[in-house]
Amino acid sequence: MSLQENADLSQLNSFGFSSKAQYLIDVYSDNELVEAVSFAEQHDLPLLVIGGGSNLILSDYLPGVVVRLQSTGYRKVSEDDASVLVEAEAGENWHQLVEQFIAEGWSGLENLALIPGTVGAAPVQNIGAYGVEIKDRFEALTAYDREEKVFVDLASSDCQFGYRNSVFKSKNPGRYIITRVRFRLSKCFVPTVGYGALTQQLADDEVTARSVFDAVVAVRQSKLPDPLELGNAGSFFENPVIPRAQYDVLKAHHPDVVAYPDRPGFMKVAAGWLIDQAGWKGYRAGAVGVYDKQALVLVNYGGGCADELMALASAIQHSVSERYGVELVPEPRRYPLSV
Ligand SMILES: Cc1cc2nc3c(=O)[nH]c(=O)nc-3n(C[C@H](O)[C@H](O)[C@H](O)COP(=O)(O)OP(=O)(O)OC[C@H]3O[C@@H](n4cnc5c(N)ncnc54)[C@H](O)[C@@H]3O)c2cc1C
Repeated sequence: MSLQENADLSQLNSFGFSSKAQYLIDVYSDNELVEAVSFAEQHDLPLLVIGGGSNLILSDYLPGVVVRLQSTGYRKVSEDDASVLVEAEAGENWHQLVEQFIAEGWSGLENLALIPGTVGAAPVQNIGAYGVEIKDRFEALTAYDREEKVFVDLASSDCQFGYRNSVFKSKNPGRYIITRVRFRLSKCFVPTVGYGALTQQLADDEVTARSVFDAVVAVRQSKLPDPLELGNAGSFFENPVIPRAQYDVLKAHHPDVVAYPDRPGFMKVAAGWLIDQAGWKGYRAGAVGVYDKQALVLVNYGGGCADELMALASAIQHSVSERYGVELVPEPRRYPLSV
């Protein structure tokens, strides 16, 4: 394991905020992970696991220990005629792994191409895009349970996956450190291409896992800023899920509201539409702002910080709540948590 003191995290968060950690520990094995956790406990320090930093809002200083899982690789666990069970290490780059699986002839994750970050973080908010969430292809994971001090296997039901949510994000944040994730992938490609932009992009192509992967990459590149060029964390707010009765009132006042049926009795409203209609698209407040092509994405033009971003987020939340009576919840979490 390698330990750095006063470590620079500005390259380790996709907003590109200037941030330092008291300690940054890179771990390459289960044993090293246990050592890193013990180090934090012995010194009574808070511990944060970081993957690619693409769903975090980092303050300028993080007291305590930031742990980065560097284990990579994947292996076939078992297979039958129709499917394959594959286990991937937490430190694997998500997008590259999805591409590698397609090259192996294993499909199911192609709609999740180009989501930045690592395999270990993917279950945390049950990443999703274009009609697929990882819970749909998920079999189980292995994690270090910091409470019981043992490695545990968790099945889908243990993870309590929901829309951009899981036990790791809301119920027990910080308790489990995910070390390996197992996916059930298909040997016979079944497309999920119900989304307008994706269908259009695929119009002239033969629909294969590779062509869906390429179409997803093309659509995302046309809509979302590349964090290497413009700091961001993708969609900043979750799409609010509201009761049908509240939606009916909203629709009566705003007939063009964009929303989709969710679970029975609920509608999922497009947060981007609410923010756009409230007049925020392209708005800039100092070094941070709302992306001019997609109102759901907040950006750092350079030199911004977490406080500035959170002030902007809170102004947007307030304005949307006043105008539409709908509460927006940020998708990324701010660290340290106590700020
Ligand atoms: C341009 C852009 C587009 C995006 N598009 C999407 C999208 O379409 N859909 C979507 O769902 N998300 C999207 N995201 C958000 C983000 O990519 C995902 O949430 C991703 O899974 C985060 O991975 P990460 O490794 O960067 O995690 P980090 O940001 O480093 O961490 C996120 C959270 O997971 C925890 N964590 C990280 N690794 C582990 C681990 N091994 N064990 C336990 N906890 C861990 C962290 O402590 C933190 O709470 C996008 C982000 C960007 C910048």
